[in-house]
This record gives sequence, C-alpha cells and structure tokens, in this order.
Amino acid sequence: MAGRLQGKVAVITGGVSGIGLGTVELFAAEGCQVVAADIQDEKGRMLEQRFPGQVRYAHCDVTSEAEIAAALGLAKSEFGGLDILFNNAGISDSMRLIPEIEADRWSWIFDLLVRGPALGMKHAMPLMLERGGGSIINTASIAGLQAGWGPIAYSSAKAAVIHLSRCAAAQLSPQKIRVNAICPGLIATSIFGASFGLPREVADQMAARIVEHAPTVQPVPKAGMPEDIAQAALYLASDASAFVSGTHIVVDGGITVGARHAWDAEAGSPF
Ligand code: NAD
Repeated sequence: MAGRLQGKVAVITGGVSGIGLGTVELFAAEGCQVVAADIQDEKGRMLEQRFPGQVRYAHCDVTSEAEIAAALGLAKSEFGGLDILFNNAGISDSMRLIPEIEADRWSWIFDLLVRGPALGMKHAMPLMLERGGGSIINTASIAGLQAGWGPIAYSSAKAAVIHLSRCAAAQLSPQKIRVNAICPGLIATSIFGASFGLPREVADQMAARIVEHAPTVQPVPKAGMPEDIAQAALYLASDASAFVSGTHIVVDGGITVGARHAWDAEAGSPF
C-alpha cells in the first residue's frame, strides 16, 4: 500500500540520519514531498540526489529560530505549502551526575530538544492553517517516561517534549492541527556514538551491539531500527490517525513494560 501521503508536504528535522532519514525514505515512498532539515550538509546534498524533485535539503540548526523559519519556508516556496512537521533532530549526552553538569549544558540541551520543536510548531502553524490543518510529530523518548534510559538533562528534556506535545495539541487541535509525540526505545542509529563524541567506527560498533543484544533487555526479540519509528510517524502523519491528538506512541519493543524479569526467570536468571 503506497501513496498514503500523496499530495502532502513534510519537513523532517534531523532528516539526514537515523530515524529522520528512515522517515524521509518512507514518506517519499508514500508520495510525500519532503524538506530534510539538518546540519550535515554533505549528507543532505546526497539525499537530494537520491530523490530529485521530491526531497530538498535545508541547512537548519534547530537552535536557530531564523533557520527553522527558513526550512519551513522552503516547504512552501519549493512544494507549495506544509502539511506535516516531524520535530526529530536531536543528540544525546554523556551520562553524568547532576553536580558535574554545567549550567550551559542544561540550556543547550533544552534549546535543542524542547525550544527547537516549540519554535518549529510556532512557524509551522500559519503554513498549516493555509492548508486547512496539519500534523505535528515530536520525537520524545522512553527516557522521558522512565528514569534510567538516558542522561538526566536529555531525559528531562524528552519528558518536556511529551508534555509540550499535549499542551500544543490542546491549543492547535481545534484548528485541525494535530500534535503527538513518539517515544522510541533503543534504536540502532549513530546517536549513540556521535552524541558521546565517539569516533564513527566505535559508534557503528555500539549500534551493532544494540542489534545483537536487544533480546536480552527487551521482550520483543528484534533490534529497533529507524523504520520502526518511521512507521509510527507515518501513522501519525497520515489521515489514518485523524482522531489522534495530544498523545504519545511508545515504540520500544516492550522495553518499558518491565517484563525483563519474567524473561530472565525463564532463562534461569536469579533476578
Ligand atoms: P542520529 O544521530 O542518527 O540523527 C539525529 C540527527 O539530528 C542527525 O542527522 C543530526 O545531524 C541532527 N541534528 C543534531 N543536532 C541538530 C541541530 N542542532 N539542528 C538540526 N539537526 C541536528 O540519531 P537518531 O537516533 O536518529 O535521533 C533522532 C531523534 O530520536 C532524536 O531526537 C533522539 O533524541 C531520538 N531518540 C533516539 C533514540 C535511539 O535509540 N536512537 C531513542 C529515543 C529517542
């Protein structure tokens, strides 16, 4: 079944790598025209070449309001408007205790992960109203639901993204703009390396380890891949979710249900 986003235009931040890239590919296969907004220009240019006329790259640091506005403006100037915004750009952080974290680090994480999506919604709204409505999807995380899945500033920011999505849904849904969040579990992307300042080979090894060891920490015996999140984004972006707003979808292979203990018991573990 293809064509579920035929005639629609999307902006996807963090669109040249990992979850964002997987979503650009799926949305394009479903007939969507896409602006991939990111800070990795070389990868952005390569993406444009893969999808001539259907995907445009915009250099957009989501900590800059002007660059966010410009990326959304490109959707209108290039493809005629905006129906879908996937606020997905992000980084992680190193695991540190509160006393070790500089004040500026907190500001930067929140600027990137919370203020960025908020400003994206601000500038998307008038464009979506011109089209009679739209769908906004924000990438949160299971780290925003439970402690222990990520660094503390990152996890707090992701919790804020979930509530930002609810509050924005309350404001925008009456105007036919739906807002939802996705909480990915462990997804094999370069975030594990890049955000921790690791070299590319080490990052790839970490991603491979997640693939290999996923069954030991999550009930579903399969590694989480970018396309698993892209499928959730497709549902939230498409008219199939017309009655869904202000909620979050957890896509984590069951890792947050706490079934690990049952699993371990079956394997004869003392836990
Ligand atoms: P990734 O590193 O593959 O992709 C992230 C993208 O965001 C990169 O292309 C990067 O260049 C871009 N980016 C970083 N800073 C940016 C900025 N200031 N402005 C614009 N773009 C910027 O990682 P990913 O795993 O695909 O991450 C995508 C989102 O998913 C992030 O918000 C992340 O927090 C979230 N997430 C990932 C996981 C996981 O396990 N991979 C789990 C939960 C949530």
